[in-house]
Amino acid sequence: MRTPLIAGNWKMNTDSSTARGLAAAIATRAVEAADVELLVCPPDVYLALVRDTLGNARVGLGAQDMYHETQGAFTGETSGGMLRDIGATYVILGHSERRHILGESDSDVNKKVVAALTAGLKPIVCVGELLEEREAGRTAEVIRTQFEGSLAGISADAMASVVIAYEPVWAIGTGKVATPDQAEEVHADLRKQLAARYNDAVADKVRILYGGSVKPDNAGELLGLPNVDGALIGGASLKADDFLAIALAGTAVAQA
Ligand code: PEP
Repeated sequence: MRTPLIAGNWKMNTDSSTARGLAAAIATRAVEAADVELLVCPPDVYLALVRDTLGNARVGLGAQDMYHETQGAFTGETSGGMLRDIGATYVILGHSERRHILGESDSDVNKKVVAALTAGLKPIVCVGELLEEREAGRTAEVIRTQFEGSLAGISADAMASVVIAYEPVWAIGTGKVATPDQAEEVHADLRKQLAARYNDAVADKVRILYGGSVKPDNAGELLGLPNVDGALIGGASLKADDFLAIALAGTAVAQA
């Protein structure tokens, strides 16, 4: 049984006051979300503040990106070791906004995955097709290419620490959500690729999250799909009530 991971990607939102308030509201009610793992990924500058606000609550701390080098003359960048040092245990890598706005390639993402694992962070590796790629019938090919490229050289043992997130780009921040059939088809294909590339045990263990306009009213259906093991949530993770409602949908599925 894979414990669902409910992860909030705060993106470049909040300030110190709203980050503290959001973290406090989630921390207070985290105990209600039994049998799911909760994670918040605030902007780097608020990681320490959010860590301190979460205290001992059952809510993990993650970052939204990192650089692949460990230290040195890389102005503006943050290493995996620094993120570990500040208390993060997860890092989102290859988010579509980084791929498409900032030009990250699969090879860039792969270097970061290797560096994150070396630093002791669990990478959440994002893959997802553009609308034109879906409409051209290229979804499976695009996802496979991103999967292969982003995870090149990662051993079966290391995969125990990796989470994959399928996020159709056309569903991110748009209010358009993949249908259960569309999501399950890609998730099942990713599971098949894990089995083919590694083995059944790895395929059975790795969590594959869905992301793209997950809200309280669609979370139950998505999280109930056989190959969906949690959610990566943008907009709805900025409202404690919505984030917790999605987490509770995960609890209901986990306990069913
Ligand atoms: C995301 O950015 O990872 C995301 C899924 O955003 P949203 O939930 O707002 O679509």
